[in-house]
Amino acid sequence: MSLTNPELVRESAYINGEWVQARSGNRLPVTNPANGEHLAYVPDMGAEDARIAIQAAEGAWQEWRDRTAKERAGILRRWFDLVMQNQEDLARLMTAEQGKPLAEARGEVGYGGSFIEWFGEEAKRAYGDTIPGHGRDKRILVIKQPIGVVAAITPWNFPVAMITRKVAPALAAGCPVVVKPAEDTPLCALALAALAEEAGVPPGIFNIITCSKDHAPAVGKELTTNPVVRKVSFTGSTPVGKLLMSQASGTVKKVSLELGGNAPFIVFDDADLDAAVAGLMASKYRNTGQTCVCANRIYVQDGVYEAFVEKLKEAVSKMVVGAGLEGETQQGPLINEAALDKVKRHIADATAKGAKVVLGGKAHALGGTFFEPTILTDVSQDMLVASEETFGPVAPLFRFDTEEQAIAMANDSEFGLAAYFYSNDIRRIWHVAEALETGMIGINDGIISTEAAPFGGVKESGLGREGSRYGLDEFMELKYLCLGGM
Ligand code: ADP
Repeated sequence: MSLTNPELVRESAYINGEWVQARSGNRLPVTNPANGEHLAYVPDMGAEDARIAIQAAEGAWQEWRDRTAKERAGILRRWFDLVMQNQEDLARLMTAEQGKPLAEARGEVGYGGSFIEWFGEEAKRAYGDTIPGHGRDKRILVIKQPIGVVAAITPWNFPVAMITRKVAPALAAGCPVVVKPAEDTPLCALALAALAEEAGVPPGIFNIITCSKDHAPAVGKELTTNPVVRKVSFTGSTPVGKLLMSQASGTVKKVSLELGGNAPFIVFDDADLDAAVAGLMASKYRNTGQTCVCANRIYVQDGVYEAFVEKLKEAVSKMVVGAGLEGETQQGPLINEAALDKVKRHIADATAKGAKVVLGGKAHALGGTFFEPTILTDVSQDMLVASEETFGPVAPLFRFDTEEQAIAMANDSEFGLAAYFYSNDIRRIWHVAEALETGMIGINDGIISTEAAPFGGVKESGLGREGSRYGLDEFMELKYLCLGGM
């Protein structure tokens, strides 16, 4: 890893403006998933370290909330500028610890940075309300106030954006944050904290505690049960989200959850097939299929099924697989062995139940956790790929006959994060968009994420929204003031 600014690589956690080790002295190695190379050590912290970080956040809160929105916005703007000045280094760090191709990593730094820019601007627009009173002498006012200490737990698949999407609105609203990044990707989180420090975020307002998978339950328990924490924001798997939500119920914390998806991608007879293939390539294979909005179930209407398979096969067979730092790479390795095992298990289950492998289907010759971009046909709803998120480069193609069938199959899931469909019929576009049970829908589009739109799911995909003007509300409380005797 050769960086222009080596100061970005931190092997300490960040609490109350200090770069610190775990009280236990334990450390956790960080490795490159493309080649197993050792990159750095970070502290392997525990519940006591989390408690100290929460106390620091509480102590720093009052002064931060008392600043004007414009003052907080100025600091966020400086942080955004520093992130963009260090875009290349942050991208290289990300590719090293996470594995995604460098071009995607650069894109993520830009996307992650956009939340800092956006929420710095939104900080100034946390408007309240005046409401006609319910008595001649009464006036009603509603103000918004920062909720308090925020705990954020983030995943490895977007090591920068998943942090800025939570921390930027929290800071904008006037809240301090304690972040526990994923054990696979702590270096990007610490680099973001180093830049936030340089931008002038005061001590105690943005804290990072790193820990191993073994210590995550204890740290998570502290973050979700400590009465000082008023808000828990989590992105990750559904089982862990449910656990954190139940732990947070003891002190009735506000909770935002961005959990698993199982996105349907529907191609109707009247679709532009080339556009649909391009959209699917972007949605399915981005980040080696490891995003919660990746197309997971591809439903193709009878009349275009064969033609769609051919076009998709042609596009996928051109994909370049390799280490993310190599220039041509379009698909990097999977994050770890467990991810590789899941992909293999899904393909084995599908083929045992009658699916055909049209392309790929096995571990890549590069070894490690590299996997061939895969297409399966003759897929049915009884296979694991229909009910579970694969989180890998596998495109299972289901066949359907009518619009109603497609909607029923798409909604036959406990998840409801993103959905995609391709059609050129305006009646169908409205009807299907209203009928799909998801929080987000790409219509003739495979890339939907932006800081300007509300990101989030329904059903067991989560609670709350991130990004957009709605994202700020997640970190604020409404207060109603009744003025009497007027
Ligand atoms: P993934 O399958 O994407 O790794 P996880 O839900 O296991 O999803 O991980 C997302 C985040 O949740 C990571 O930061 C991880 O360390 C954390 N995590 C995992 N288990 C727990 C737990 N029991 N309590 C708190 N955090 C946890």
